[in-house]
Parts: sequence; C-alpha cells; structure tokens
Amino acid sequence: MEKQFVYSFNEGSKDMRDILGGKGANLAEMTKIGLPVPFGFTVSTEACKKYYEDGGKIDQGIIDEILTKLDELENVMGKKLGDPQDPLLVSVRSGAPISMPGMMDTVLNLGLNDETVVALGKLTENERFAYDSYRRFLQMFGDVVMEVPMKRFNEIFDGKKAEVGAVYDVDLTTEDLKSIIEGYKALYVEVLGHAFPQDPKEQLMEAVKAVFRSWGNDRAILYRKLNEISDDLGTAVNVQSMVFGNKGNDSGTGVAFTRNPATGEKKLYGEFLVNAQGEDVVAGIRTPKKIDQMADSFADAYAEFEKIANLLEQHYHDMQDMEFTVENGKLFMLQTRNGKRTAEAAVNIAVDMVNEGLIDKKTALLRIEPEFVEHLLHPRFDADEEAAATAIAKGLNASPGAGCGRICFSADEAAEVAASGEKAVLVRTETSPEDLAGMVAAQGILTQHGGATSHAAVVARGMGKCCVTGCAALDIDEEAKTLTIGDKVFTDKDYISIDGSTGEVFEGMLKLVPVEISGNFNTIMKWADEIRTLKIRTNADTPRDAQQAVEFGAEGIGLCRTEHMFFDEERIPAIREMIVAEDEEARRKALAKLLPFQKSDFKGMYKAMGERPMTVRLLDPPLHEFLPKTPEDMEQLSKSSGIAPERLEVLAENLKEVNPMLGHRGCRLAITYPEIAEMQVEAILTAAIEVCEEEGIEIVPEIMIPLVCSRNELLNVKETVDKTAERVMEEKGRRITYMVGTMIEIPRAALRADDIAKAAEFFSFGTNDLTQMTFGFSRDDTTNIIKDYIDRGIWDANPFQTLDQSGVGHLIETAVTLGKKSRPGIKLGICGEHGGDPRSIEFCHKAGLQYVSCSPFRVPVARLAAAQAVIKEEQA
Ligand code: PEP
Ligand code: MG
Repeated sequence: MEKQFVYSFNEGSKDMRDILGGKGANLAEMTKIGLPVPFGFTVSTEACKKYYEDGGKIDQGIIDEILTKLDELENVMGKKLGDPQDPLLVSVRSGAPISMPGMMDTVLNLGLNDETVVALGKLTENERFAYDSYRRFLQMFGDVVMEVPMKRFNEIFDGKKAEVGAVYDVDLTTEDLKSIIEGYKALYVEVLGHAFPQDPKEQLMEAVKAVFRSWGNDRAILYRKLNEISDDLGTAVNVQSMVFGNKGNDSGTGVAFTRNPATGEKKLYGEFLVNAQGEDVVAGIRTPKKIDQMADSFADAYAEFEKIANLLEQHYHDMQDMEFTVENGKLFMLQTRNGKRTAEAAVNIAVDMVNEGLIDKKTALLRIEPEFVEHLLHPRFDADEEAAATAIAKGLNASPGAGCGRICFSADEAAEVAASGEKAVLVRTETSPEDLAGMVAAQGILTQHGGATSHAAVVARGMGKCCVTGCAALDIDEEAKTLTIGDKVFTDKDYISIDGSTGEVFEGMLKLVPVEISGNFNTIMKWADEIRTLKIRTNADTPRDAQQAVEFGAEGIGLCRTEHMFFDEERIPAIREMIVAEDEEARRKALAKLLPFQKSDFKGMYKAMGERPMTVRLLDPPLHEFLPKTPEDMEQLSKSSGIAPERLEVLAENLKEVNPMLGHRGCRLAITYPEIAEMQVEAILTAAIEVCEEEGIEIVPEIMIPLVCSRNELLNVKETVDKTAERVMEEKGRRITYMVGTMIEIPRAALRADDIAKAAEFFSFGTNDLTQMTFGFSRDDTTNIIKDYIDRGIWDANPFQTLDQSGVGHLIETAVTLGKKSRPGIKLGICGEHGGDPRSIEFCHKAGLQYVSCSPFRVPVARLAAAQAVIKEEQA
C-alpha cells in the first residue's frame, strides 16, 4: 500500500502523536470516542519531512491526497470551500509531536475572499462581522503565511482609525473595514509583487507550506535545541472546519481545565465569552465570565461540556486543558491536551487521581516535575503580581525562592537593616566568606558575578535562601552605594525583589506567598521512598541545616564543608591567625583556639543526625579567601597574633596565588600543615565519642580528604588522620570505627581510581571541581561565557548545573569501575551541586552510586528524582 500522508480526523488516535502531532492526535481521539469535533484532517509530520527532503516543495501525490481529504471534509460538512452561497471556512494550525510554543500561529477563516465574504455576511446576518473576519484573515494570512510585515498592516489599520476618529476597533464601520481591506490588498501587491490569492485552494496549500516552513525557522530551531527536541520530528498541519462562536447570543467560546491548574481542586476551571471568537478571549477586550456561569447562558451546552470534561479526564487519565465553541447553542470541542499546572496542583492532582483509582502510584510519581518540588518549600511571589511586573534584569537562577527588601551593599548593612525589623536584599559584585552574617540576615542575595557553584550560590542553597548570581546587567558601586541598571540608579534607600527560581530582578517589593506543605506532598515523598534505591544525603555545615535536612528526609550528610564553619565573626580572627602563623608553634596556638568551636559544631551535627552517616571533609579552600580585607581587620589581626602590621602585609602578599583554585588548597593544606588535619580529626573523633556516650548510640565517622590526585597524597594525609585518631581514642578510653575516604574531583583521580581506592574506603564525586577541571572552565568566572555558549546553541545546558554525562560522567563511570575493581565494597556517592539535579541523579542511579548528596532544600527533589530513575529504568 502507498504510504499515507493525510489523515481525516476519523482515521487517527491519540497513539499517533508522532505522525499527527499532539493536537492532531487528540482531535482524532475525540472524534473516535464520539465527541462533537468540527470535522477536518491532519497533514502528517511525514509530509513535513518529505517537504524538506524534496527541497521545500509539497509532493504532487501529497497535494492530491490533501484535495481528496478536502473533498471528504466538504461532503461531511455539506459545504464547499469557496462556494459563493454557503462557503466552507477552515482553520489551519501547526501541531508538532512535542508542544512547541513560538511555532506558526493559527490562521482562522481560511477560504474567505471577495465573494465568500458576502455570503458570510448574509449567513450570519452580520455584514460587519463578515468584513471584520475578512480583514483579520488578510492580516493573519499575510503575516503568517506570506511574511508581509505585521507593522505595515497595523499602519493601515491605525491610519484608518485615526482618520475616522475611532477610539476602539469596534468603532470602525463596515465601510471603514472595506476600505482597510482594499489597503491590505494593495499592500500584498506592493510587498509581494502579486495579489492576495483569491482561490481558497491556493490559500490552503500556501498555509500548509507555511506551517512546514515554520518548522525550520530560527526560533523553532533554537527552541528545539534548548529543549533537546530532535530536528527530525517535523510538524503536522491541522485543517479543521470553522465553527462560529460569534453568531449571536446563543453562541460563544471558551477554555477550561478539568481541575483547577493552580490548586488542583477537582472542579471545572476556566472562562467563556458569549458571542465571541477564540481570539477575543485572548485579546482581553471583553471580560470573560467564569465557566460555571455558562449554565446561565447555554444550559444544554454546559451540561454536555461538563459530561465531556469528565469523560476526557477518565479517558486520558490526566487533567485536561480544553477549548470549545458553542455555535447556535451547539457545543463543539476544538482541542484537548494534558493541562499545565503549578507544583502545588501537580502534587494534589497526582495524589487525588491515585485515590480515585485513575492512575497508579508510579504514574503519579512520574507526573511531578522534581524541579517543581523545591518551589513548594520556598516562599514565592504572588503569581499575578509577578506576571504584571517587568523584570529590570536577569541573572542565573542560583537558588530558588523569592525575596524582597531594601538594597544593602554590605553584609553589615544587611544585618543592620534586618535588625531594625526591615527586610534586606544583599547586593554584591560577588560574595565572600565574610558576607555570611549578611546572607543570613538578608531575604535574598543578588550578585553581579559568579556562577552556579560560586560562593553565594552554594551558601544560599544550603540556607534555602533565594539567590541570583551572574547578573551582568548590574553595575554596582559599593563605595558610593549605588546600583545602576540601564539608565536607572538605585541607592540603599530603594527596594528590590528577586526571584531565585527564574533569575529575575524587579523594582520595588512584590507580594510574597508563604510556604505551606500539604499532606499530599508527604504522601508523594513516602511513595518515592518506597521505590528509590539511591540513598539521599545532604550537604550541611551547621546543626541547624542538618536538622532541616533531616526534616526534609535526608538519610545522612554527604559533605560537611569544614571551612564554612569558620565563617562566623567569632572564628574568623582565629583562622586568620592560623594562616599568617610563621611557624608551627604559632599555627598550633591558633588552631587550639579553633578546636573547641569545631568540636561543639560536630557534636551539634552528630546529635542532629543520630546514627545516620556523616562525611566530614578536611579543610579545602584556598587560604587567602580568609585573609583580612579591611584596615580594621589588619589591625585586629596584628593585635591578636602579635605580628607587626608591615610584616602582615608581606605575609598576606606571599599568600596570594595567581590561580588559587589550582593552588594551595584541598589535601595540599594537610600535607604542608599536618597540624590543621590533626586539629580537625581530634575535633571529629572527640565529638563522635562524646555523642556516642551521651546518647547511647553508635557513630561511624567518615573523614574525607579533598582534592586528591594520587594515592601517595592520600596515604600521607591518612597517616596523620590515623595517628591522631589513635591518640584521641586512647585519651578518651573508647575505640570507635571510623572510615577514611576521598573526593574524586580531579580528572587524574578518576583515571587512577583503582590505585587510589586501595587507600580509600569511600569515594565522593566532587563534580563542581571535576567539571571545572575537565572543561578547563573556571566555576566562578565563566557564567557569561557559558550563557553565550547556550544562547548560540554550542552547549545545551550549563555543565555546572546539569552533569555533562558524556565527559565528566565518563570520568565518573571510569572511576566507579576502577574503584570497585580494587575495592569491591567501596562506598560511592556524589556531593557536587549535581547531586540535587534530577537528570544528574538519574545518571548517578545508572552509574551505580549508592547515594547522592545535595543541599537540604533539594533533598525532596532528589527523593523524587531517585524514584523516577527506578521507574524509568523499569519502563525502558
Ligand atoms: C566539588 O568540588 O564538587 C565539591 C563538592 O567541593 P567544593 O564545591 O567545596 O569545592
Ligand atoms: Mg571541590
């Protein structure tokens, strides 16, 4: 049999999405189950592919098939395209297998020409309506199909309005519209060199071609690239007979969801307009009525619509988003599709549908976008206020949630403003460890520089605070205390709002909606836990964050960054003393001051975690991060260390590194200054032993050595760890089991993982550094370059946010295989920021890791993503 390229609505089904596109498949399905759908046909995605294969031409065989289906349509409708007495009019719409907003718009009323417009006027007994439809069609067809600039149509239209003194479009008379139509027709000749095609069949073929062409336009190509949609799918074209909702007071049109898409409430939600066409609802000229008031206008049609809505939901097992028209009291369905919904609605609908027996738990879990889950845990802006506001800048959506307040240019200011009872937003070129107090006090953090794993981003995510980084449009003068965005200058008297979920920045204070975690959310999490095999740990450095993470379901701590424990104002002086110490004795003196802080923090964290595992990492950062910055800092340090200010200047200068990320950090610190590791191990072991005794529990400390690239480095530090542990256990009179492992965050470590595993009881993949060093892209300085790469389609995603599976992922897989080879029982996890990214989590599941570790607020995201990874694997 010859290949079929065109399908009448009664020949398809919802399972033919690939061939008929989403819209076409659903129109066919509704036709199949006997719903009132205006008849029509779909030109398939196969025809689109052939159009491209043939170099932008519709094959004669396909043209013939379209004409045959048109004949059939005319027979069903009892009307003919172009008939001067009773013309058939059709709509032409694109419809790809995956919904692609921004593709070709709809063309309505195709088939109108100088003759049929007269018939339409008579049939509707409304001449003005007919000429207005014709005018709109000329405009739509010109813009979408013939590529005549819309601006030129508007000039003619607005010119006429001005000429006759019309304020609104509806003030134009039939005669005015006729004159506009003449102007439009002349414009076709001027721009295209030929007249508007009066022949409806020619109009139809041109419209089909235009839809095919739109598949290849720049916008569509970019959209597909960004959303990883294959260029090979092609789009279908739906040709459907027009029904008119604007035929009088017994006609109307509307859109509705089977459930409330904002809350999930099981009740029809939507609106409709009496005596109107689809466009009027969108145009917002008239205020639509609530859907349940439809019963007052057309009781029968409404009763039928309610029945159909219910039936469609039962049929599709999902919430539907429907379009309909009522023509002279009779209901027609124009579209149905699975409805988009908020995070809250997604959770409520999924649980309700399982309870109603409509779907099973696994389907319910797959229905919820893991990314969405985090939105439920943070305050957000009132949706209407945010939609009405215009963003004044956009940066990287570094940590979700919303915050607003007075602009503060320093941590101190933020702390002061917050202490006075006002809300603060910390605005910085970039943040540093010393900004911590300000970050705690602020509602949100906005920085000009920095990427997804910059200090501000990592710390904000840990605290569950909203944060926008890498916002290049900001021009911050911290001295003058001004923030300039474009022409506008803000001072510390002004207020801004930031949305960490979108990266948008707004002027003034937007209204916030508080967090409310529903019982259904917990139900979903419980179902996810029943299915997932990956354990979920958290990255936390304070007892408070650890507690928060446990409440969100964390099963352990995958990374405690000990350097974060020194950010506190009380502790920074001691760590500074340690850094500038000129000999071991001075360093030990400073370390002794830090020991009690470390020990009490670890005790707090062990208490919060109980017997859950906790990986504590030895000091990692480049030391100069902690160096004094202001003259006051210098003075204080000089006093506490007894080193003269001039000498301090020299010491600080000596500590500066050209490339600190690749310099004196990680295990290199413990190798050059073993006493740092000694102090930390003493704090860890003492804390663990004391908590074991106080709480009557068993704790197995996990000590992690960062930035290792060779076994000998690891062995060197491990020796310090073991020696110190022995000493502490002796002193405490109690032996406990502890583990020593390493981070795999340097490509060489992944390649030499078999050798390294001989000395490591566990591996934790530090994919922030591993990405940085595999790509050779700085994790802090390259946000704008990466944005540019993505805009140009060179990369699909930011590798610091979504794991680069083929490169960095390949190194992980290599390390997993090699590590298991020399130590079959090796513990494997990930603690880079990717541990909270759903797609990366799916990869970790497949790669055979045992756990992922992420910031506390991403724990629920990870629980769901880990369950989805199992379900997807089962279904593959
Ligand atoms: C990493 O590099 O992935 C990691 C977790 O360590 P940090 O971000 O602290 O360098
Ligand atoms: Mg690292």
